[in-house]
Amino acid sequence: MSSSQDAGTQEFDARGNVGRPEPPASGLLARWNAIPLYLRILAAMLLGIAVGAALGEHADVLEIPSRVILQLLGALAPPLILVAVVHVLLTTDIKGRMAAKMAFLLVLNTLVAIFIGLTVANVIKPGTWSELTLGDAQTVEKKTLTPDDIVLKNIPRSLLGPLGDQQNIIGVIIIALALGLALRRQRDKPMVRELVEIAYNALITVLHWVIALVPLGVFAIVASVVGVQGFGPFKAMGVFVLAVLVALLLQTTWYMVRIRFGSWARPLHVLKGMRDALLMAFSTSSSTVSMPVTYACLTEKVGLREESASMGALVGANFNNDGTALYEAMSALFVAQLLGQNLTLSQQLLVVVTSVVASVGAAGIPEAGLVTMTLVFTAVGLPTEYIALLLTVDWFLDRCRTTINVLGDVNVSCLLDGKRKSIIQQA
Ligand code: ASP
Repeated sequence: MSSSQDAGTQEFDARGNVGRPEPPASGLLARWNAIPLYLRILAAMLLGIAVGAALGEHADVLEIPSRVILQLLGALAPPLILVAVVHVLLTTDIKGRMAAKMAFLLVLNTLVAIFIGLTVANVIKPGTWSELTLGDAQTVEKKTLTPDDIVLKNIPRSLLGPLGDQQNIIGVIIIALALGLALRRQRDKPMVRELVEIAYNALITVLHWVIALVPLGVFAIVASVVGVQGFGPFKAMGVFVLAVLVALLLQTTWYMVRIRFGSWARPLHVLKGMRDALLMAFSTSSSTVSMPVTYACLTEKVGLREESASMGALVGANFNNDGTALYEAMSALFVAQLLGQNLTLSQQLLVVVTSVVASVGAAGIPEAGLVTMTLVFTAVGLPTEYIALLLTVDWFLDRCRTTINVLGDVNVSCLLDGKRKSIIQQA
């Protein structure tokens, strides 16, 4: 979930980090951190390949650092979702009928995205293109969805319990909604807003510290895979990247068809008008950073009413991460295929439900999808070690899914604007 309507007034640094820009530091580490994340990851991959090839079987110990990073990402997820939901509830104005229509559009788009993702992954089966073993967990824990799972386990037993339990994201959302709605009644008090904002920014700062460790994780996982299993496993990764791209293209087609028949705006005109925002999303991997540009393009270049643009691109954007939902569902299926296991129908249903929640809870910042992905994997019983493998391609796929996240907001805004252009727009 991204940081709401006042995103335009927040401070971001050049790489899309929220908060005050760090004072320029000197030294080797500072110079390393000044390099864009994707270049650091690419460098780490190359180094990982060289070290893995040199160490051979001995490189297996390097799996540990990548696991540590994943554990840290997973630990951050529940509090991040809690504070982000409360933050949105405190800072956005939602209007009656339009809100109901928007909620419907958001749910529909996310479900279509997950359906497309699962279908493409089931047809192309990227995980069957190579064999790969990581860690000791080689099976998907069988989980069947009983009424007990759906209701009782998701209702929080204690207020703080779900915050320490990665298997209960729905519980976290329930607590966040209750707290957010209660605090909303007191939102005139500046202290309430300030406190939530401080907590949100602090968590995002910690998240960026962990993200700074991602190149180390990539180095470690690449070295250990290359050392122990050679280059074979990367064939599957290549097919997985292609499969995700195909699915994202299909989702784009869905958006365009919906705009063609549900809005006065024409798809090509929309794509042309949104060029700047889409390029910004691709280059920053952050839908939150792109938010002000998205809004400006929608109103100034596409010509939507301000109300539709702000509902879709500012309010809805906080909940709407279709690219992330599609990616999380595909990743779960991909890893199950790598393990040579088929997810049962109830497990695939669990993937759908948790991917929806995980995409709602993903912050609009680089790599946020990886944080909530640990929750999807844990809920379905997939070994989270395999997410480390996805780190190697995430720097690229994050850019692609962020572009689709923004296009999803554009789609909702166009549909909210309806089939008739406003009279002011026509003039
Ligand atoms: N980077 C994505 C965004 O900003 C979130 C994600 O990692 O999936 O929308």
